Amino acid sequence: MLNVRKDFPILTKVHNGHQIVYFDNAATTQKPYQVIHAIVDLLEHHNGNPHRGAHVLSIEAGELYDEAREAVRKFINAASTEEVIFVRNTTEALNLVARSYAEPRLKKGDKIVIPISEHHSDLVTWQRVCQKTGAELDYMYLDEEGHFTEEDLAKIDDKTKIVAFAAVSNVFGMKRPVKEIVAKAHAVGAIAIVDGAQSTPHMKTDVQDMDCDFFAFSGHKMCGSASTGVLYGKKAILEGMEPFLLGGDMIEYVKEQSTTFNELPFKFEAGSQNVEGAVALHAAIDYLEDLGMDNIEAHEEELTRHCLEGMKRIPHIHIIGSTDPAEKTGVITFTIDGVHPHDAATILDSFGIAIRSGHHCAQPLGAHLGVEASNRASFYIYNTLEEVDYFLEKLPLVRKQMGFKD
Ligand code: PMP
Repeated sequence: MLNVRKDFPILTKVHNGHQIVYFDNAATTQKPYQVIHAIVDLLEHHNGNPHRGAHVLSIEAGELYDEAREAVRKFINAASTEEVIFVRNTTEALNLVARSYAEPRLKKGDKIVIPISEHHSDLVTWQRVCQKTGAELDYMYLDEEGHFTEEDLAKIDDKTKIVAFAAVSNVFGMKRPVKEIVAKAHAVGAIAIVDGAQSTPHMKTDVQDMDCDFFAFSGHKMCGSASTGVLYGKKAILEGMEPFLLGGDMIEYVKEQSTTFNELPFKFEAGSQNVEGAVALHAAIDYLEDLGMDNIEAHEEELTRHCLEGMKRIPHIHIIGSTDPAEKTGVITFTIDGVHPHDAATILDSFGIAIRSGHHCAQPLGAHLGVEASNRASFYIYNTLEEVDYFLEKLPLVRKQMGFKD
């Protein structure tokens, strides 16, 4: 098991007399000193507007920004830094693709195919594209455990122009057969867009091996700071796309009535950039790579196995999706008979345990499963088996506190 708690100052926080147990990592993760110090170092010693001046601070900020991009390139194994675009988060990355790639290309008769379990950022975006272009949004409904079925895969047909899906669902927490689905999309001439928000923090990412056309992820879910995300896109596709946002930095020449655009990746990075975020992401990547992505995956699998075994023994708990830890990251979504998820989360919070409650930004999945809201415990590198045991000890108290006798 990993042993990194000393690096995370927030984990010593005491809430209601209990040391905090942070199990809301699928929403956002905590930050190690290494990331915090990198941000402080930038602001204390190197802060300037990158690529905008001939003075030392602009140059240093620019260098740090460029180094961060190279670190991301290596981390996801992109062929070139031209293919790595800094954005605010996964949501913005997917909006960029929807606006700049999909809207100008799709038309009536075309199809976009996505799983019903997609996060709203990978669903509402495609609804809008379909509304604007006349294309159809077709859903893969998955089996009860969250796996793709033959029927689902058959939806990827000759009319399909885009297949978009999360490499790991934020509700089921399952690792998807990414390569297989990308290949299926390519076989019908569609592009494949992978939402990596829940996979990138937890396992190795290799965009060339996946062969996906676009890949999106968020820095804040992998120890980086807020509002820093990445869109990877294949160079040939990015080159053919119009810019998403217009303004400074993304231009080559501006005349009174027309503009030519900067080269990749700057064409898609309009305005002053989030250097703190890029520097934090760089430090986060270094930190995670030092731990080893395979070790991170194994650590979470052990926590998940232990937690699932314990939860299965507690009456009135229902786990949503697969209960096979080998095919999951550290995400466990569940309901408790007779207890509203918000009440469950509030009671657990009184014991210092932070879990998520709600629809997890996946309302169509909730409607499909007939489970409008649920709870979600999600683990990361600093969680321990002792914390899981504490959670398993307190979980049965939720129904007791709600007045149930059994
Ligand atoms: N996709 C998935 C699978 C997610 O879990 C999330 C965050 N919950 C997002 C997209 C959106 O990420 P962000 O809010 O950082 O844009």
